[in-house]
Amino acid sequence: MAEHLTLKEILDLSAGHFAKHGLSSPRLEAELLMGHILGLERIQLYVQFDRPLEENELEQMRQFIRRRLQGEPLAYILGEKEFMSLPFYVDSRVLIPRPETEHLVEKALKLFEEKGEVTLVDLGAGSGSIAVSLAHYLPRSRVLALDINPESLELARENALRNGVEDRIRFILGDLLDPIKDEGPVHGILSNPPYIPGGELEGLSLEVKAQPRLALDGGSDGLRYYYRIAKEAFPLLKSGGYLGLEVGSGQDETVSKILREEGFEGVEIEQDYSGHKRCIWGRKQ
Ligand code: GLN
Repeated sequence: MAEHLTLKEILDLSAGHFAKHGLSSPRLEAELLMGHILGLERIQLYVQFDRPLEENELEQMRQFIRRRLQGEPLAYILGEKEFMSLPFYVDSRVLIPRPETEHLVEKALKLFEEKGEVTLVDLGAGSGSIAVSLAHYLPRSRVLALDINPESLELARENALRNGVEDRIRFILGDLLDPIKDEGPVHGILSNPPYIPGGELEGLSLEVKAQPRLALDGGSDGLRYYYRIAKEAFPLLKSGGYLGLEVGSGQDETVSKILREEGFEGVEIEQDYSGHKRCIWGRKQ
């Protein structure tokens, strides 16, 4: 029986299955997974609708559907996620880059594009999404990508290679800014630190919980890292340098205050495209 099923029939069945389980984009997800198995772009699937599927292709799709319905994020199954229009490998070693974080990078591009040869830091690099996008869109910049997890740094390095910017990024293992505290001052420090209050983690969706706890857990009030980052960043910045931080919902006022108390000036709260107060920027005078 199974060998007679066509690509279209499998897509319909899979999308129906996903819809029944409440996924928000059932058809799109089915197409992306099928395209991944067949090595085809979504558009190419449409012209091959009548293609009968091999048993091994069907089996792979069954497994993908099973994993997805158990709450594994689509990006982990595909092994890939786009960020700032660039492709990134992702797997369970790292947080999946989020469109909200593009806002932090875009603001950095505005601040630094006229400045030429800047040195920028991506603190808590994870997949390397911020570091690699900065290096790509600011072709004269040098970037230091720091992370406490050696496995994340490995993946970040692969992403730098994939995007052709490995020669301008240094990957540094260590605890927050400690490993570079004796280096020359830098023009900018960006971070999307873990900011979810520890007590809220259990109540989050399976997809969020499938991501590394270390990348999410911001301590009891979610603010644990902001104090240390602000304190360690200030002496490392050149005069006129910027610190830019992504924050969680409702953390904008407190994080702004933390930055002001550390000596940052012109502290600004930036909204993302959905109107959420998403990033805090401060300048060292
Ligand atoms: N910098 C990475 C990102 O924004 C990882 C952040 C993290 O693990 N908290 O996706």
